[in-house]
Amino acid sequence: MEWLTAKVLRVRRETDDIATIFFTVPGRDFHYIAGQYITVFFEQSSTPEGKAYSLSSAPYEKLLSITVKKVGEYSGRLHALREGDSFMISEAYGTFNPQTTKPLACISAGCGLAPIWSVLKNELHRNTSRRAQLFFSNKTVDSIPFFDDLNACRAAHRSVKIYHYITRQHDVPASMKKGRIDLDQCVGAAPNEVAYLICGSADFVRDMWRGLVERGVDGGSISTETFFE
Ligand SMILES: Cc1cc2nc3c(=O)[nH]c(=O)nc-3n(C[C@H](O)[C@H](O)[C@H](O)COP(=O)(O)OP(=O)(O)OC[C@H]3O[C@@H](n4cnc5c(N)ncnc54)[C@H](O)[C@@H]3O)c2cc1C
Repeated sequence: MEWLTAKVLRVRRETDDIATIFFTVPGRDFHYIAGQYITVFFEQSSTPEGKAYSLSSAPYEKLLSITVKKVGEYSGRLHALREGDSFMISEAYGTFNPQTTKPLACISAGCGLAPIWSVLKNELHRNTSRRAQLFFSNKTVDSIPFFDDLNACRAAHRSVKIYHYITRQHDVPASMKKGRIDLDQCVGAAPNEVAYLICGSADFVRDMWRGLVERGVDGGSISTETFFE
């Protein structure tokens, strides 16, 4: 695999433990499809093959970005990066993006929004009235990544509906719902006229996938990306 050098331009704290790292690949046109991921590689690590991180940026945007939850070695080293630092990455790969014109039903938890956000931004860039719904699960209101971006998206695109589900906070704002994602609402009356995108932990993706299929959704309409650790 050819390793490329990425240069950090900015780091944005999304929440206490999630950060978005904006970067470029100097001297190189970096091509990717919305929703793809890269492998990040650190020397002298316990994982010499590197680890995968989805691009949260969209191809039309000037800067590349990944959005990382700090849980261990690689994510900790990514969180420690500062403006001007360099790190090694691979080309982009992955086939999460269904590349469809059907309305989108996006289902994600926490950092799992990263590749979905890439796809959603890209679709809205191509067609500002693209129909999409986002069902987004987080533990608390303060742990919602991309919060300002999502509000701006909702304000700019009436065709996009965003539903927040908060699983571990007693009182939530009236605009949000307590508990787990409501798949009945997600599937609606016409389960197979929509393309579904699910991204999150292995348990989350499995539970959401099963829930959709139990409600009559054809597995071929569901794209999944799993953040295996
Ligand atoms: C296709 C794909 C895309 C991905 N995209 C993203 C993304 O966009 N953003 C993102 O944040 N992640 C993403 N991931 C996950 C990412 O690749 C890493 O797996 C993740 O960052 C954890 O790696 P780490 O080295 O930080 O954690 P590790 O050090 O491997 O730790 C993993 C787990 O073990 C626990 N642990 C570590 N050390 C100890 C210890 N000594 N004792 C007990 N427990 C311990 C940690 O708490 C953690 O829960 C993606 C994964 C895949 C496969």
